[in-house]
Amino acid sequence: MNIILLGPPGAGKGTQAKLLEEQHGMIQLSTGDMLRAAVKRGEPLGLEAKKIMDAGGLVPDHLMIKMIEDRIRKPDCAKGFILDGFPRTVPQAEALDKMLSACGKKLDAVIELKVDEAALIERVSGRFTCAKCGTGYHKKFKPPKHAGVCDVCGSTEFICRPDDNPETMKTRLKAFQDQTAPILPYYRQKGLLKSVDGMASMDAVHGSIEHILGETGKA
Ligand code: AMP
Repeated sequence: MNIILLGPPGAGKGTQAKLLEEQHGMIQLSTGDMLRAAVKRGEPLGLEAKKIMDAGGLVPDHLMIKMIEDRIRKPDCAKGFILDGFPRTVPQAEALDKMLSACGKKLDAVIELKVDEAALIERVSGRFTCAKCGTGYHKKFKPPKHAGVCDVCGSTEFICRPDDNPETMKTRLKAFQDQTAPILPYYRQKGLLKSVDGMASMDAVHGSIEHILGETGKA
């Protein structure tokens, strides 16, 4: 199955994508993670994207479309993929339709994580990840079992995303409202849009997504 998880920053797209990846063998395609990896490797795309990402803006469509087009064609996407962070604009959604039909694939569902935007700043401001294995934590909602030590690999080094701060978050939320939210009617019209309550617990959200996937599979 090929799905999109849609929602503002901090809605839980990455967390839910990881759960689906574990359970269904689908591949998480996070454009944010791909860009951060390009920044880390010092690639030209990374250098171009870094300033925009740090400011909370959106990287130009043509760069993002090329990046996802190259990725979707790789053989590991054959089992199905979960798009996390793409598309973020209507032109990206249109380009995605074209590239999928060109390679004989289709979207099965677009799942919107509906959240209370006031809660997102707190969610995002407390996020951090293990520098070694990438396991995600949150100061308040998911601290490591032993303070300062990663539950998974035992590392004591953690990193915070430079754009996970209240100031940049305001710009990221505005980008979502102005540029990404118009995608919702685009997919609603196609009959692909399903919504879940993203403020529920991680397990409850996962359960709602599984239910949608079950229903979609039957259709
Ligand atoms: P994320 O990890 O999904 O929150 O993405 C982090 C940042 O990467 C965003 O704030 C944007 O600057 C950039 N980005 C990720 N995906 C896209 C996209 N599809 N279009 C434009 N910019 C993107």
